[in-house]
Amino acid sequence: MRKGSIPGGSGRVRPLRLLGDQGLATPCEEVTEFDEGLAELVEDMFATMYAAGGVGLAANQIGVPLRVFVYDCPDDEDRRHLGHLVNPRLVTADGVTVRGPEGCLSVPGIEAGTERFDHAEVEGFTKDGSPVRVSGTGFFARCLQHECDHLEGGLYLDRLTGVRKRRALRAARRGGLTPAAGAPAPAPASGHRAG
Ligand SMILES: [Zn+2]
Repeated sequence: MRKGSIPGGSGRVRPLRLLGDQGLATPCEEVTEFDEGLAELVEDMFATMYAAGGVGLAANQIGVPLRVFVYDCPDDEDRRHLGHLVNPRLVTADGVTVRGPEGCLSVPGIEAGTERFDHAEVEGFTKDGSPVRVSGTGFFARCLQHECDHLEGGLYLDRLTGVRKRRALRAARRGGLTPAAGAPAPAPASGHRAG
């Protein structure tokens, strides 16, 4: 195969940012330069995603605050979806809501049942600036929604509630991870009770 024909083949594996990193909690900026630097970023993101064994990766997970994500992800019919999106916009998320296991390279070792729509469509651009529209169902729809959340400064943990959230955060803390410094601190214990 021609050199560079495998996504990430010429990329550099970059360190992953983990839960607690402020960059993961900050919305990313639009890409304005579709240049060689962007092409290199996409290559590095593929290399990093494959090295970590992930199915998707957003740029802020390697500390680059730009609206870019890459994916190599199966859907529920085992069809492979491989690509990248620049300045993506989630235009449709609908169908039934499915709670399924979800994990994140920035929250290693943890998985939690997370609700997502079964169908998603994302519009954006390739690294060369050509418009693209990507749609997916099942696990790939989950991936598209997960990566779009990253670019808004969100994590799948934000979508958990109740016991699932408490369990996931406890596991994260046990793993040495802590929520972002900017996150609201737990209210101090006091004699006051909310209605
Ligand atoms: Zn993630």
